[in-house]
Amino acid sequence: MRRATFFAVLIACVLAASGCGSSVTVRTVSARPATPASVAPFQTTSPALRLTPSPSATVANPSHTATTQSPPSVGQSPPSVGQPAPIVVAGHGPAGSITTTGSDAVALTFDDGPDPKNTMDLLDLLKEQGVKATFCVVGFRARDHPEVIARIAAEGHTLCNHSWQHLQNLSEREDSYLMWDLQSTNDAIHAAAPNAKIEYFRAPYGNFTRRLIDFASKLNMKPIYWSVDDDCWMSSRYGVGPAMTNHMTAVVKRDTRPGGIILSHDNGKPHTIATYRSLLPWLKSMFRLEALPTSQPPSRTHDPRER
Ligand SMILES: [Zn+2]
Repeated sequence: MRRATFFAVLIACVLAASGCGSSVTVRTVSARPATPASVAPFQTTSPALRLTPSPSATVANPSHTATTQSPPSVGQSPPSVGQPAPIVVAGHGPAGSITTTGSDAVALTFDDGPDPKNTMDLLDLLKEQGVKATFCVVGFRARDHPEVIARIAAEGHTLCNHSWQHLQNLSEREDSYLMWDLQSTNDAIHAAAPNAKIEYFRAPYGNFTRRLIDFASKLNMKPIYWSVDDDCWMSSRYGVGPAMTNHMTAVVKRDTRPGGIILSHDNGKPHTIATYRSLLPWLKSMFRLEALPTSQPPSRTHDPRER
């Protein structure tokens, strides 16, 4: 019996040392430097998260290979075991990204724009309903449609950096490219909205790694993931008509909880706006909706209709 106990303890120690088990891996992500093995995307212990591929991932979730080859953080020595990593992030998303608003408010987030048609339509709807949201915009589109960025900021919504060109393997790129990518996106936003606070970063496809989070934090941006995916990208299965709207509505109603962050997409997806026309009144009746908070109020929060 003693020998059996010894081997049981030995095996347990080996497993613990190798970081086996998803729950162990996730828990250590926020406290250790990233390594290729420990930062596999979409690992989470949160039952609220649905492990689905992100919008453009039409093939069998290629994102799973996108971050596994990422190098460890550059220029940082690993902290001692048990000490917190030098980042104030401890969310439950990939690599410790944030999945809740931190309050009972629910945040609507719209990705991949700005889209000169759909984002404008969405802004009209949000204004009509008196709702503030968060827009995770792509750098080159912000450069191409500055008038949409300016309106997002002017109407009191929050802007979020969604990288320059939505590279699926962004985390694998070299340091110089990464910094150029994130900074250029912020520059394009600021060219259109000089006073906009850009305090959030969402990795393309949600492919966060600790290295990406490190770079975002250098620009004072928090990594924002989600707790609800509205499935707007599943048009190959549901089309873009009523079947899709019904599905998206059912998913959001099923999965949204207080404090949640809903992932939606406005760029190239008019069915998202169609869905929100009927969904938004329900969300308003059930939750307090807010734009993700920034350190200072957006440049203009006053609704002219309140005069
Ligand atoms: Zn995206």
